[in-house]
Amino acid sequence: MSKFESTAEKGYFGEFGGSFVPDELKVILDSIGEQFNKYKGDKEFLEEYRYYLKEYVGRENPLTFAKNLTDKIGGAKIYLKREDLNHTGAHKINNALGQILLAKRMGAKRIIAETGAGQHGVATATASAMVGLPCTIYMGKVDTERQALNVFRMQLLGAEVVAVEKGRGRLKEAVDEAFEDLVKNQGDTFYLIGSAVGPYPYPEMVKYFQSVISLESKKQILEKEGKLPTAIVACTGGGSNAIGAFAHYLEDKEVRLIGVEPAEAPSISEGVPAVFHGYKSLTLFDENGKLKPTNSIAAGLDYQGVGPEHSYLHSTGRGEYVTATGQEALEAFQELSKVEGIIPALESSHAIAHGIKLAKELNKDDVIIINLSGRGDKDVNQVYEMLNKEA
Ligand SMILES: *Cc1c(COP(=O)(O)O)cnc(C)c1O
Repeated sequence: MSKFESTAEKGYFGEFGGSFVPDELKVILDSIGEQFNKYKGDKEFLEEYRYYLKEYVGRENPLTFAKNLTDKIGGAKIYLKREDLNHTGAHKINNALGQILLAKRMGAKRIIAETGAGQHGVATATASAMVGLPCTIYMGKVDTERQALNVFRMQLLGAEVVAVEKGRGRLKEAVDEAFEDLVKNQGDTFYLIGSAVGPYPYPEMVKYFQSVISLESKKQILEKEGKLPTAIVACTGGGSNAIGAFAHYLEDKEVRLIGVEPAEAPSISEGVPAVFHGYKSLTLFDENGKLKPTNSIAAGLDYQGVGPEHSYLHSTGRGEYVTATGQEALEAFQELSKVEGIIPALESSHAIAHGIKLAKELNKDDVIIINLSGRGDKDVNQVYEMLNKEA
């Protein structure tokens, strides 16, 4: 028997996932898993979650037909799932809200979280303010500099933001600090992870809360087109918007599920199976077992790991994983803004870049859904600087 079979129930996706953490941390995480399993089918809990999704987040959000872009390309019909229209401007609030309602039921007195682009930090600070819990956000120092406005936003929302200077001062180091905090302050602290990564039970918990994306999009596309889409396209950082956008189509084998990684942080395309941050997944380690540096223009995708279920979907072939470069994303960012009047997040722009390529290859009777994971207001300064440097 492989060592994986013995813990199969603990969050494995094939050989990926699991929980590789010190025993004292495992006890904490197992109890979160227990509570999650208890509440995920609880009628009252789900009613509360759905209430806030509607009244606070603003769901359901539209599945917008991108007519101008479709006409311009002349291939498949392109629809955009509008996570950019959620309160706080991205998909992350779906998960932050779900986990915070769980934390509240578990009696947590304090919330902690890590953030890369700042979007998850903002979502967590927002949800914490809403339920009246204090929160501390760990953020790599480099990220606090390139997303300074999001830092201020979190502070306005009442959060304490800790700039992590260790290592390269990015998302990886912020995650390390948050785990340390959780062990130190176990008992009263809930760690709200922002993507479908980390040890059990986070990947399945985050997927559960993000799957509202595909629950809605499936209903919407059947209403609008009377058939399932040819493909779903989503950008893949840690993989939460992608797994949420894929979840309700996993059994529909005719629907292609396409994850788009940044070419500058291609965890699935070029990673190797390894244990990182307490779970096993494809990870960007070099031959010497050292983490490879990443350098995506999108802070939310600039991470060496990826959620274990994506590594699994890649290994079985159910998911297709491709890359888009920062330059391609930058062009897609401008194209969607100009042609549709929608400024997308730089993260989402990777999915748009590939979606445009794919639409060209497909026929007019094909339909694709691009998951527009967030809006681009947070990126306008950065794009301004990149474009002026180019010129
Ligand atoms: C954080 C973020 C991402 C990447 O995270 P995933 O977990 O891969 O979804 C993508 N898009 C936006 C707008 C983000 O804020």
